[in-house]
Amino acid sequence: MDKPHRLRRLEDLARAIAYRQALIRHECWPRTKLDELQERRLAELLDWATQRSPFYRELCNTLRLSQPYALQDFPIMNKKTYMEHFDEIVTDPRLRLSQLQEHMAHVAGDEYYLGEYRVLTTAGSSGQKTVIVFNRREWSIQEAASMRIASMMGVVPFSTRRPKIVTIGSPSPLHDSYRLPLSMDIGLYRYHVLPATAPIDELVQRLNLLQPYILRGFPSMLGLLVTEQLQGRLHINPCIVAGGGEPLSKELRKQLQAVWQSSVFDIYGTQEGLRAMECNLDEGMHIFEDLGIVEVVDEDNRPVPDGSLGHKILFTSLFSFTQPVIRYEISDMMVLAPEPCPCGLPFRRILAINGRNDDVLYLQGRAGRQVAVHPVHFWNVLESFASIRQYQVVHEPDGICLRLMFEEGNGDIACSVREQLAQKLHTLGVTCPSIRVELVTTLEDRSRNMGKWKNIVSNVNQAVR
Ligand SMILES: [Zn+2]
Repeated sequence: MDKPHRLRRLEDLARAIAYRQALIRHECWPRTKLDELQERRLAELLDWATQRSPFYRELCNTLRLSQPYALQDFPIMNKKTYMEHFDEIVTDPRLRLSQLQEHMAHVAGDEYYLGEYRVLTTAGSSGQKTVIVFNRREWSIQEAASMRIASMMGVVPFSTRRPKIVTIGSPSPLHDSYRLPLSMDIGLYRYHVLPATAPIDELVQRLNLLQPYILRGFPSMLGLLVTEQLQGRLHINPCIVAGGGEPLSKELRKQLQAVWQSSVFDIYGTQEGLRAMECNLDEGMHIFEDLGIVEVVDEDNRPVPDGSLGHKILFTSLFSFTQPVIRYEISDMMVLAPEPCPCGLPFRRILAINGRNDDVLYLQGRAGRQVAVHPVHFWNVLESFASIRQYQVVHEPDGICLRLMFEEGNGDIACSVREQLAQKLHTLGVTCPSIRVELVTTLEDRSRNMGKWKNIVSNVNQAVR
């Protein structure tokens, strides 16, 4: 690694440490002071966007908006519109989606784009990919938020122990679960990221060697690891276990606490910068409202009162000035607590959330016993095809049914999707089941089913015993 690159990363991290102090101070503030901060930052963001972003400048003229701007005057932005207008939304004219995509194809580690930007991408269950760009200052805030999460779990930087933190996550540097630890791996903590796409036996072996102090991963992955521990193949003793990316059920929480005698935390986050972290009193997840504004709304975008289930949320990032994220639609359904938290933090809490909740599939292994196949393996294959708009994998007694919804005119790649999936299952030691492809033009809207929509469904599941 060249020295200037290393120095830049150190500068970013030093800035993050200073931001972390500021974030921690906000945690003791009364709510009124937090409201003032949000108001001030929002005004700065909206002023900036309407001056520097061609999209918002134009919008401001068309809608005849004038200062002081109100958030509710700004349109709701869904992923599709956001990506269609990417080049006009960003506030640095050097950022062009096509060139960023070219850069993303070659990112192998913590590389900057134009010496200044870090680029991430999302591939959510909706199939719509988003590109997110952070400048160095914005990335430092991301790092500070990550340190705040660690502090809330009882781990502070510069502690003499330098606790070993193992995340089982995306194997891609374009995903924040991999990129954040990578960018901060300069000595404060001992970070390890294991790819969630590795076969479970390999993860068990690596974890036995690493012996994490903190273990982070998808709850469904943590569930598989608990089974491995109970069956005597995994021998770890993490003090802190944190789940994220999927709902953490009460049953799994109890099991994690019982098997590892560990503190268990639930974390919520999106690549766009929204973060929430479970309260120490187990009273829900506190949204980091000094960094963003969350509006819980119904199907028609009307605000839903705290205490009631919303249809989706609208997120406004208070620190993303390169790529303004204003009233950005996220399809998670949540309930916010109507009361302030007894723990004293001024941030509102998420009481319930319906996120991605896919099944682990148990398939026949070549070595005789069943293999637990985590949904991540299916996400990995299916979400690598840009032309798949939505999909569902259904495990039936006679094999796997792949229901695919393509962008128009791309149905002919269905065969290669099936081949890649078969190849992936083979590398996991599975005797490949029959895979049937169904091309569909609609798939049920997950939001119509109270968030119970699953991309990966088992109709034959039985846990490995
Ligand atoms: Zn609390």
